[in-house]
This record gives sequence, C-alpha cells and structure tokens, in this order.
Amino acid sequence: MTHDPHRRDLISRTFLTTFGAPPDLWCRAPGRVDLMGSHTDYNLGAVLTLPIGRDTWIAARANSTRTVRLHSLNLGADAAFALDATGKCADHPWLDYVHGVARMLQEDGLSVTGFDGVIHSTVPLRSGLSSSAALECAVATVFEALGGWQLAPLQKALLCQRAENRHVGVNCGILDQFTSCMGQQGCALLLDCRDLSSHAMAIAKGIRIVICDTRAQRELTGSEYGERREQCETGARLLGCAALREVTPEHFAAHAHELPASVAKRCRFILEEHARVYTLAAALTTGERDAIRQLTAASFDGACHLYEIASPAMHAMMAAMLAAPGVIGARQAGAGFGGCMVAFVEEAQVEAFATAVRSHYLAATAVEPEIYPVTAAAGAERIGQNEEEAK
Ligand code: ADP
Ligand code: MG
Repeated sequence: MTHDPHRRDLISRTFLTTFGAPPDLWCRAPGRVDLMGSHTDYNLGAVLTLPIGRDTWIAARANSTRTVRLHSLNLGADAAFALDATGKCADHPWLDYVHGVARMLQEDGLSVTGFDGVIHSTVPLRSGLSSSAALECAVATVFEALGGWQLAPLQKALLCQRAENRHVGVNCGILDQFTSCMGQQGCALLLDCRDLSSHAMAIAKGIRIVICDTRAQRELTGSEYGERREQCETGARLLGCAALREVTPEHFAAHAHELPASVAKRCRFILEEHARVYTLAAALTTGERDAIRQLTAASFDGACHLYEIASPAMHAMMAAMLAAPGVIGARQAGAGFGGCMVAFVEEAQVEAFATAVRSHYLAATAVEPEIYPVTAAAGAERIGQNEEEAK
C-alpha cells in the first residue's frame, strides 16, 4: 500500500497546490475490521480484530506557527485550528478528531508543532471500519515525528481514544485505536480489553477476509450506541460486577431473570459474543470451516435478536453473502446499524464470491455495494524515508 504511486502523486500534487511547497513527512495508520466481538470492547471483553490495508495517509510539513492547516481529500475541505485553542470546531466537525489528539498530547506535556497537512484515506468514512481511529492515530504519528519524541504504541492508542471520548464526544472503547496502533502485518490480533494484552495470530491458509459494505451509513453518535452501553452498564451493576467481563455464565444463568428483559438480552449477547471470540480464534487458526460457519451465524443471530443492531441493509447483505460461492461464514462488523459486514471466503473463490454478492445485493436493494478482500496491515507508522527518497 505504501508503494501506491498514484496515491502519492495525488497527495503530493494537492499539497503543492494547497500549501505552495512539497511535504517532507508522510505517516499512515490503518482501519480495522472485527472478525468477532461486537460491542465487547467497552464491556472489557475480548475481540478478534484485523488491522486492514485500507488506511489513512497524512503528508505534512512543519509550518513554524501554532496553527495546524489541513486539507482532506476525502471531503474536499480545507480547515485550520490553533494548537492553543480548546473548543470544538462547529464548521468542520472532522477537525475535532485532529484537534482532540493535539489537545491530549499537550495535556500529557508533549510538545506539538504547527503543520500543514493533506489527509487521504482509503478507509470508507462512517462505515464501521474505523476511519476516525485511523485519522487520530496517523495524526498522533505526525505530531510524534515533528516533536522529536516517541510514544509506545499502546500509549498512543489510549491517547487517541481519550481524544475521541473527551474532545469529539464519542464514548468508544479501545478497539479501534488499539488495532490502528498495534497492528502487525499478516496477523489478526486477539485483544483482551480488560488488561489490554494481545496475541498476534495467523489465519489459516486458504481463507480470505472479505469486506462487504452495505453502503448504508450509520452514525456512531446516534443514540443507539450510547443506549446499548448504558444497558450493559446497568446489567453489570445489577449483577454486582464492575463490567460484564466479570460476569461468569453460571452467575448470569442464576440471576438473568432478575434483570429487565431488554438488559438481560444485551448481557446475554455480550457474554456469548465474548466466548465466541476465543472459539473463532482457534477455528481460524486451524481452518475449521464448520466452526467458522456456526460461530459467525450465531454472532449475527445475536446481533439481530439480542443486541438488536441489525438493519434491513444488513439482512439483505447477509442473505447475499450466504448465497455466494466460496462463503465459509459471514457476520456483522463495527457497531452495526448498516456499514460494513465481513465474510470468510475460500481463497480460490474470492472473485466469484464478490461478483455474486454484488449482483444479489444490488437486485435486492437497488444499492451498489462495495466488496473487497483485505489483508492484515502494520499499525500506525511513519512511511519510510527510504521510500520517500526513492520516489
Ligand atoms: P468510522 O470510524 O466507522 O469510519 P466515525 O463516525 O467514528 O466512523 O468517524 C468518521 C468521521 O471521522 C468522519 O465523519 C470524519 O469527521 C472523520 N474522518 C475520518 N477520516 C477522515 C478523512 N480522511 N478526512 C476527514 N475526516 C475524516
Ligand atoms: Mg469511528
């Protein structure tokens, strides 16, 4: 991905026209897809997550001021903010993701420098592949390179999460920023959100991960996400635990009937989904197709009937994925309510799968979906200087 010459040319040319000089620093950070573990992160459970080759690039140049000036190629927008300001940006909400990172870095006593930057992302925006974390983590990497200090990747992830929680105002868990900072090329990550430990794991040969984008966008700041979070917190409290992660299946079975019905459904989903993360991780490593099929089906079933985050577009996509050649299993991804879904597909049949899903979904919804395989990419990084010089 970092060798894509067209992308580099586009960004370089835009930088030159916007700021009148070439960039001298390039950073990138990936989006992610969860292979199992919907909404488990803020319940301190486990997630099987994949940092993907779709990523956000920022080309930058220090500008010797206390202002950050940005152009987003995705939005076709220019905007700027003062590093010393603390308020949100009413005209350009997207700037808050960048400004939030600058604020948190300064709160932690790190020096930040004004810069000019062009942003370009191949992560679709607001589609559940975490373009917001990719932007935050790429920005933190730019400040890091310009400031001459370095954060450990986990610290960077926590800081970017804090920026999204406190400055942007989205109460997300750690999944997105963790994956974007801690990604390793070629590996899925089995993340434990309680102690923030993770294990890199390879996916069995012959199985490809395919993103199936419904093109029905969702809003994470919408009330559903916060409502699910509150219901989980209520459930944990009523069950006498700090987080649902602490609730054992036995304890839940004994006390579920004491919970309000909707809260019990949410809790049941989280407990089952958390357990599925480990069984899917094992099945993906050894390539047990039947287990992958069953676990992904159970995950989507829970998303529909227990967590209630499935939308009509997601049902249409699920039907298209399950009817396509080469499919091993399929489920929701991200927060749900539209956006992207994920399929596990036999490598030799990825193209046939994509063609079939496209026509089936288009016929059912009159919407052209986007279907593409992804591979595991490295986490947030400065794009190599050798590469820059070779250009
Ligand atoms: P997701 O993280 O699933 O893509 P979010 O709603 O959490 O969805 O974050 C999307 C928001 O992040 C966008 O609406 C925009 O404000 C900001 N954003 C992400 N990538 C970019 C980009 N390349 N340029 C400008 N803003 C971006
Ligand atoms: Mg996001």
